[in-house]
Amino acid sequence: MPADPAETGRDILARADALARHSDSPDHYTRTWLSPAHRAAAAQLAAWMREAGMSVRTDGAGSVIGRYEGATPGAKAIVTGSHFDSVRNGGRYDGVLGILVPLACVAGLSRRGERLAHAVEVVAFADEEGARFQTSFLASRAFLGRFDPALRERRDAGGVGFDEAMREAGLDPEAIAANPRDPATIAAYVEVHIEQGPVLLDEGLALGVVTAIAGGTRHRVRVAGAAGHAGTVPMAMRRDALAAAAEMVSAVETRAKAAANLVGTVGLLEVKDGTGNVIPGEASFTVDLRSGEDAVREAAERDVFAAFDAIARRRGVAVESRRTHAVRATACSPRLQEALAAAVASLGLPVRRLPSGAGHDAMVLAEAVEAAMLFVRCGAGGVSHHPAETVSAGDAGLAAAALGAFLRSPGVPAA
Ligand SMILES: [Zn+2]
Repeated sequence: MPADPAETGRDILARADALARHSDSPDHYTRTWLSPAHRAAAAQLAAWMREAGMSVRTDGAGSVIGRYEGATPGAKAIVTGSHFDSVRNGGRYDGVLGILVPLACVAGLSRRGERLAHAVEVVAFADEEGARFQTSFLASRAFLGRFDPALRERRDAGGVGFDEAMREAGLDPEAIAANPRDPATIAAYVEVHIEQGPVLLDEGLALGVVTAIAGGTRHRVRVAGAAGHAGTVPMAMRRDALAAAAEMVSAVETRAKAAANLVGTVGLLEVKDGTGNVIPGEASFTVDLRSGEDAVREAAERDVFAAFDAIARRRGVAVESRRTHAVRATACSPRLQEALAAAVASLGLPVRRLPSGAGHDAMVLAEAVEAAMLFVRCGAGGVSHHPAETVSAGDAGLAAAALGAFLRSPGVPAA
């Protein structure tokens, strides 16, 4: 690939286009774990890695791993990568950008015959979204030997079993997490990813340094009041479950807006036996709270549920809730954040730090090694997991330049 960042960026986007043609559907871009299109994409990635001077292997979960040796063969590696599976009808840069950007960097090193103090490994994780077997982070977990064997009982929407799908793809289900990668051989993990949100776009910035990957909780809340005739029960005598729930939904929004680094969403609201001429007797809804700081989220959670209780008391309805999902926040390595910030600044760009609201393979890697992330501006209003997802060639080129600077920077752990 050429040395000019804009040209590098154009090449990266052209490769994303080429890779998106390996899709499970002729109508839109969907690539699920071990489908024929997924395997063809893996073969293409392996070919590009070899072309960039890397030795290539495939691990037990089908991830493609390219290694570019450092000055001393066998040195610890900076591992960088992302996933090449997609959600159904997704966007072509989610995950893939984090493979193609480092590939461009290694191609540059290889072209110049340059060897760094450490090895560079590009990992194309085979499954992160988990659209086929409703898994999450399957490949990065398997990479570290943290695969959950219970997943092997699952079947896909077409009735194909997990083991069967693996065998069909020439993989051994017994060996999916055999030979886990020893974290001691990894100097650091860094993941380039599109932001999947509108913050960088809104501020006119190409790149961002991720501070933490947000943790989150989800609750299911049920409000019980009293059903009644919409015509005969006077307003003062009502115990309307939906009116109470509506106030609670507003309470979530108000509380989430009151803190920086916190988002709160009610994405589902149901009225039991709802009909136009009956006072709602029961309503239920979900509450999704996320923050890069667990303490911020936990405080919001306490406030929100205290507000629910107060609303319920005042309105004479009952409220109960059940937690259905909880993930703690993952802080990015301060040292690697500094090195990424210096790399971004070395391009003459302002350094914007921001948390990631979405989960990424870096969360799994961070359990074992120092990890960090570089965000790239998302076009089209910041939309992602959608065909309208875009990245500009200029931004992709800047991401490659920043990652290249990072790989050479003194703040990065050496071999
Ligand atoms: Zn992704």
